[in-house]
Amino acid sequence: MELLTKKFQVRSAINSLSNNKSIGFVPTMGSFHEGHVSLIRKAAEECDVVVVSVFVNPTQFGIGEDLAKYPRNIDRDSCLAEEEGVDIFFAPSEEEMYPKGRQETWVRLGEIEEKLCGAFRPGHFRGVATVVAKLTNIVRPNKLYLGEKDFQQLRVVQRMVEDLDMGAEVIGCPTLREPDGLAMSSRNAYMSPEERAAAKVIYEALMEAKKVAQTGTHSADRVKQALVEKLVSEPLCRLQFVSVCDSESLEELTRLGGSVLIAIGAYFGTTRMVDSIVLSFS
Ligand code: AMP
Repeated sequence: MELLTKKFQVRSAINSLSNNKSIGFVPTMGSFHEGHVSLIRKAAEECDVVVVSVFVNPTQFGIGEDLAKYPRNIDRDSCLAEEEGVDIFFAPSEEEMYPKGRQETWVRLGEIEEKLCGAFRPGHFRGVATVVAKLTNIVRPNKLYLGEKDFQQLRVVQRMVEDLDMGAEVIGCPTLREPDGLAMSSRNAYMSPEERAAAKVIYEALMEAKKVAQTGTHSADRVKQALVEKLVSEPLCRLQFVSVCDSESLEELTRLGGSVLIAIGAYFGTTRMVDSIVLSFS
């Protein structure tokens, strides 16, 4: 595995590959868990060359968010990547990605940016889209692997790649969960044992909502009500939003139909968690 920190090194490593090699790219913020590993494995299954980046991107963190305390485990991450057969491990500095802290050109997103998490994190998805565009332009992958865990992020990147003809195929990968259903996340380590135990209510609420949605009701409000009732029953859960929306446009629904995203954003202590499931209705 090549462990690279400079953009030009990644470009020359990729340029030296023969043209007929397919490149799979997994962008991450590091502190790997099995969710990250599942994306790397999928990329390795489907592509000749696997590139992984680890970059805690400052432009997607708002004021008062957890940029400074975001967990960083670059040595462990590079060992795991090596074990998984990653070919290129790109871990740039902030200065390498934003020389002199300067970035004047940003990806401007449509309405999708303001929905769900976007309503509470102004500028977050602009930061995500811009860094994914920069990284994708450096790596020029055939396939880009992202988790459904961060469903809005997946949709934002899919739209950007399509709208800007970036030429990569975006592959959404299923969410890996802990035994109690909690979605794996680098941020889970922030929680106290009590908060961590309480956080399983997120998955329980999603399963409750699924049950209600599958009773034959067409009412999105009934599904939302089931989500809220379950979440507020947990005293350590501070609810931010629930959403029952179209999984493509992320427009809120009143009537269930087609592919429906059921999503939750909630705090446990100071840790913000997001999770979602997708259900199909004929
Ligand atoms: P992050 O390092 O948190 O930015 O995540 C890097 C990539 O891994 C993103 O595409 C995430 O959606 C994905 N990811 C994070 N958690 C999970 C999980 N539990 N299961 C599958 N993919 C995940």
